[in-house]
Amino acid sequence: MDSGDREWERAAVVQTLPVVAPRKLAKVPFVEMADGRLQGVVSSGSDIARVYVSSVAAKTHGLSCSTNNNRPCGGLRGAYPCKHIDALLDEAVVQYGLERVARYLGVEIEGTSLYHALNCSHEPAPAAVVFSRFLRHLAYLELPGATAPIPELQWFPATGVSR
Ligand SMILES: [Zn+2]
Repeated sequence: MDSGDREWERAAVVQTLPVVAPRKLAKVPFVEMADGRLQGVVSSGSDIARVYVSSVAAKTHGLSCSTNNNRPCGGLRGAYPCKHIDALLDEAVVQYGLERVARYLGVEIEGTSLYHALNCSHEPAPAAVVFSRFLRHLAYLELPGATAPIPELQWFPATGVSR
């Protein structure tokens, strides 16, 4: 084949890459500010089948992190956020903006990071409610032939919706 054909082939490969990429969840597929908590679902870095439900109480900054079947997160000790809560805070800022998140949590963020503005304590909260809302969001993914962007799913790279 001549070089023109090869050029065409390379272009075709680039175009099909997003389609054949393995479907996987975003690091933080679900974040909401509800029930007096900033809360959401964080996927486990190591196990695709496991997710953590993490939350920060708006008033007390009580931290909670457990798996979807209510096993406490081993990384959350005392007043120090685990990596899941860190990821949750980061994603909340991406989705809602730093100002809105800070206002919801009742903190001033001038000259400091959101994390340092929080006065954290350990305060386990039930994961089931958050997790069931997450599953309702996931159900959108199973809609047959849905190609139109669904606003609630912007953070799922698997849907092909770009930010
Ligand atoms: Zn955790």
